[in-house]
Amino acid sequence: MAHGGHRRVYESLPGCETECYRRCVLDRLRPIVELGVRRLAGRKSPYQMTLSLTNRCNFRCEYCDLPLNPLPEMSGEEWCGAIDELHGGGMGRVSLIGGEPLIFKQSGMVIRHLKKRGIHAAMNTNGWFVRDQIDDVELLDVVCITLDGPREIHDRQRHPGSYDRAIEAIEILKSRGVAVVTMTVLTPAGADNMDHVLAVARDMSFKAFLQLEHPSSADCMMPMAPRMTDERISDLAKRLLALKDAGEPIGNSRGTIQLHIDNGRYLGTCDGCYAGQYYGYILSDGTVCPCLLTHRQAEAGNGRRLGFLEAFHQMPPPRGPGCSCVPTFEVNQILNFDVGVLWNALDMTLRRRDRARV
Ligand code: SF4
Ligand code: SF4
Repeated sequence: MAHGGHRRVYESLPGCETECYRRCVLDRLRPIVELGVRRLAGRKSPYQMTLSLTNRCNFRCEYCDLPLNPLPEMSGEEWCGAIDELHGGGMGRVSLIGGEPLIFKQSGMVIRHLKKRGIHAAMNTNGWFVRDQIDDVELLDVVCITLDGPREIHDRQRHPGSYDRAIEAIEILKSRGVAVVTMTVLTPAGADNMDHVLAVARDMSFKAFLQLEHPSSADCMMPMAPRMTDERISDLAKRLLALKDAGEPIGNSRGTIQLHIDNGRYLGTCDGCYAGQYYGYILSDGTVCPCLLTHRQAEAGNGRRLGFLEAFHQMPPPRGPGCSCVPTFEVNQILNFDVGVLWNALDMTLRRRDRARV
C-alpha cells in the first residue's frame, strides 16, 4: 500500500506503471547506496532529515513548550526547494513534524513533493486534522500518532477530546491502508497506563513505541524525564523488555530497551550519536541542526542563507550529555550494524506489507 501512494502521485507524470515502479525502486535505492558508501568512507550524508514545518500547534501538552516559542516559517515552495537540494545530496527519508505539521497550510504540497521525488516520508501528528486532510496524509509511508494512555490521562496531558480524535485518526488511516505506529510519552501517569496503549495496539494491529518525556524546553542540556527517578526508569525498561519478549506489540527494539536498562534515562551521549552526520533537523525558519534537542547550538537561518546541503555539511557536531530519543537511537543502532535492531525494523516493514496485502 505504501507503493499505492507513490502510484497516485506518479500517475500524473509521463510514463506507464512499469516506469513508475522502476523509478520508485531506483529513487529508494540510490540514497541507501550513497549512505552505505559515505558511512564506509566516514563522510557525512543527509540521509534522513526531520522537517519541522511549524512550531504552531492546536494542543498545549503539559510536557511540551514548542508552541510557546513561535518561529518564522518557510513557505511550501521553499520547503520543496530544500527537499530537491537535499535529495540531490543523498536524502532518502524524511519525517514531517511540528508543532503540529498538519496546521501548516501547505503540508499537502510538501507531502506530494516528497512522494513525487520517491522519498520515504513519515509524519508525527497528534491526529486531530487527519480526517480533514486524509487525501494528502494517505500518501505518506507511515504515520506516527501520539497516544499517551487511557482517555482521561491522554486528554488531561494533551487536549480535551484528543484521545477520541487520535483513535479515529488511526481507524481512518488503517482503513486507507496506511502504516500506523503510535508514540507514547512516558510521563509518571502515562507509565502507569502503558497496558492500555498495548491493548489498543493489539486490537487495532499496530506497533506502539514508548519514550520517556523530554524536557519541555526541548534542550538536551536539561535533564531527560525530569519527573521520574532512576529506579522507576530502570523498572519500566525491564518491564518493557519482558512485555516485548511476551509478544506484546512494542515497536522499540530490544537493543534500545536494553540501552535504558544499562544507561538509565540516557540512551547514549551526543558524541556517540549520528545526528548531524547521517541525519539532521530543519526548523521552520530554515535553521539546520543535528536534532531538536540541540537546536539552540545552531546558527539561525543558515539553510536559507547557505543552502541546505551546505548548511548540513558545515554544521558542527552536537554537544551534550545525550537524550532518550527512541527513533534517533534506533537509527544509531542500525548504523552501528546492530543485527537485532535491524531485524526489528525489517520485521515491522515486512508486517506492514503483509497487512497492506490483506
Ligand atoms: S507534544 Fe506535539 S501535540 Fe503536544 S503541544 Fe507539543 S507539538 Fe503540540
Ligand atoms: S544524543 Fe543525538 S539526538 Fe540526542 S540530543 Fe544528542 S545529538 Fe541530539
